[in-house]
Amino acid sequence: MNQTTVATESPLLRIRDEIRRRQRFLLTSHARPDGDSIGSQLAMAYALDALGKDVHIVNADAAPDHYQEFPGLDRIEIVDRVDTSNVDAVIVMECGDLARTGVAGLEHPFVINIDHHAGNSMYGQINWHDETAAACGEMVFDAIRALGVPLSFEIATHIYLAILTDTGSFHHSNITPRTFDICRQTVEAGVNPAAMARRVFDSNSFGKLKLIGALLDSMELVDEGRLAVLFMDDGMLEGCGCTHNDTEGLINLPLTAREIQAVVFFKVSADNAVRVSMRSKYDVDVRKVANAFGGGGHKNASGFTVTGRLEDVRADILQRIVAAISEGLQTRPPA
Ligand code: 5GP
Ligand code: MN
Repeated sequence: MNQTTVATESPLLRIRDEIRRRQRFLLTSHARPDGDSIGSQLAMAYALDALGKDVHIVNADAAPDHYQEFPGLDRIEIVDRVDTSNVDAVIVMECGDLARTGVAGLEHPFVINIDHHAGNSMYGQINWHDETAAACGEMVFDAIRALGVPLSFEIATHIYLAILTDTGSFHHSNITPRTFDICRQTVEAGVNPAAMARRVFDSNSFGKLKLIGALLDSMELVDEGRLAVLFMDDGMLEGCGCTHNDTEGLINLPLTAREIQAVVFFKVSADNAVRVSMRSKYDVDVRKVANAFGGGGHKNASGFTVTGRLEDVRADILQRIVAAISEGLQTRPPA
C-alpha cells in the first residue's frame, strides 16, 4: 500500500478533506452537555469560522451555568428537533449513537461522528473513534491542526476546557503525554490554567455548599469504606436552594477520601427516573457496571438511567461495583 492510500483512509484526513469541500455545518453533542461536549463543539465552531464556513450548534440541554461565560456559549441553540436539509454535514461529538444527542432529525446523508467512548455504533459516513483520547477535545485539536487553523485564544480555551473536565481535573487514568502536549500548546496560545480551574471548579453557589453538606451527611459507606453511596432527590435540591445545574462535580467529593475507591450517585427526580453516576480510581472499571444497565462512559466515569424503582436494582448495582473494586484493586499502581 502506498502512502497516499493510507492517508486517504485515515478518518482524520477524510474529515479534513470533507470539511474543506463543504460549506454549511451543524454541530451537536450529547444531552446534558459537559465540559468536553461544550469545549469540543465550540473549538470546532471557531475553527470552522476561521475557514469561512457557516456554523450552527444545537444541543438538547443548556450547559451548566458556570460555562455560560466561556466564549461562544450564546451560539448554542437549545432544541429538541432540527431540520438538516439546508446543511452540508452534521458533526456529532461525544455520542455513541444519535439518540444520545436528545435531538431528533439528525439523520443527514453526511454525518461525521467523532467520539472517544467505548461502544460507538459507528452511525456516521465518517466514524472517527479513538478510545485513547482523554477527551473528545484532543481529537478536535488534531482535526483543527489538520485543517491548518491557528490555535486562537477561543479555540485553545475550549480545547483546554474539554481536557480539564474530561480528565476530572487531571485525576482520571486516561491521561497521556499527548494530553499535556496539547495543554502546553493551549497555554502557549494564552490559556491561564489557574483561571480555568477557578472558573470551572470554584464557582459554587452558597446553596451548593449547603447541598454538599447534606449529601455528605447522608452518604453511606459500603465494602469496608471502599464504596461511597450518595443519594439526592428534588426535595434535597430545593431545600438547599439548588437546581440540577448545581450538581455537577459533587460525585467527586467522596473520592478525596483515601480509602474510597468508587462512588455511586443516585439522583431521583420527580418523574421517578433515577440517574446513576459512577466514578472510580485507577483500574476500578465502572463502565462495565454502566454497560450492564444499558449505559456507558469511561473506566473512571460512567453512568446510566434506571426507569423503574431504585429499590429493585440498588443491591445489584452495589454488588457489581464492589466486584469491580475487588478486580481493579489487583492492578492498582503503587502510590
Ligand atoms: P455523568 O455521571 O457525569 O452523568 O456521566 C459520566 C460519563 O458517563 C459521561 O461522560 C458519559 O460518557 C457517560 N454516561 C453517562 N450516562 C450515560 C448513559 O446513559 N449512556 C452512555 N452511553 N453513557 C453515559
Ligand atoms: Mn468526553
